[in-house]
Amino acid sequence: DELISQIAAGEVVERPASVVRELVDNALDAGATRIAVRLIAGGVRSIVIEDDGQGIAAAELPLALRRHATSKIGSLHDLEQVMTMGFRGEALAAIGSIAELSITSRTMDAAHAQRIDGRTGELQPAARAVGTTVEVRELFFSTPARRKFLKSDATELAHCLEAVRRHALARPEVGFEVWHEGRLVEQWRPGDAQQRLRDVLGEAFARDSREVALQLGPLSVRGRAGLPETARARADLQYVYVNGRHVRDRLLAHGVRAAYEDVLHGSRQPSYVLFMEIAPERVDVNVHPTKTEVRFRDSREVHQAVRRAVEAALAPSRT
Ligand code: ADP
Ligand code: MG
Repeated sequence: DELISQIAAGEVVERPASVVRELVDNALDAGATRIAVRLIAGGVRSIVIEDDGQGIAAAELPLALRRHATSKIGSLHDLEQVMTMGFRGEALAAIGSIAELSITSRTMDAAHAQRIDGRTGELQPAARAVGTTVEVRELFFSTPARRKFLKSDATELAHCLEAVRRHALARPEVGFEVWHEGRLVEQWRPGDAQQRLRDVLGEAFARDSREVALQLGPLSVRGRAGLPETARARADLQYVYVNGRHVRDRLLAHGVRAAYEDVLHGSRQPSYVLFMEIAPERVDVNVHPTKTEVRFRDSREVHQAVRRAVEAALAPSRT
């Protein structure tokens, strides 16, 4: 069983940034309005994530660590309609099998917090405001072969920051802080979408990009598409979200590239941030444990929508 969970963990956790992504997902699912991420040695030594969400009741704490334990869906129908970031109940169990894990949490009606040790399952009273703190130490301590694949602390930190950035772009109303070895390295205050875009991606992109806004029946695409003069934008400034979830999808990326080809015949890497909203039953997010891949029921329609949305933004007069 230990082996099986370690193999499963390998699919979810590749590096510290994968842990950060899963834990921030959980904090957002819990309704957090402020999330702090504290890292040591790029997250390899320690990842601590604090949120002010609804917390986990003491009686539920042991369950949260168990494999396939999720409080988020109760039926196949729910799976079709899934609106939360998590739903597979795998992340905490996976992380607990490859690192030292503890959770301290307090719900609104609890007199005090409780801390659970992932290894022993022991519960202890603790001090904390309402919300949850998850601590993950010594990632891959029992699998040195995996640990060897990790890069320098600076590289792992950069990946962790990118993981938080992806969440921060989609959730401007939530405040984010990232600390590395006691130093505040990133802080994004709660605000509106425009402000968050400037804070996370910089003034240059905000200025040298056009608004994307297309509604096609129940499908919508909004965001910003960079103009070719966005010289200072990073080459990899390409973010796509489906129903609030960051995804890597070749179909969508192709749709965007086709629009840039059509309008600008450009050779440059386009930069863009796109949020697609689609009826949940028209997209399957349960394709891979990391949930960064999706499958669309009508992929042609989706491709067309993205292409038209970006074309309209880049050449408003043509459409
Ligand atoms: P999933 O998110 O797919 O449900 P996880 O393994 O990530 O599975 O988490 C297991 C369960 O632990 C969640 O369903 C949720 O009930 C609880 N949980 C985890 N993190 C938090 C958190 N930060 N705040 C509140 N509840 C949490
Ligand atoms: Mg989760």
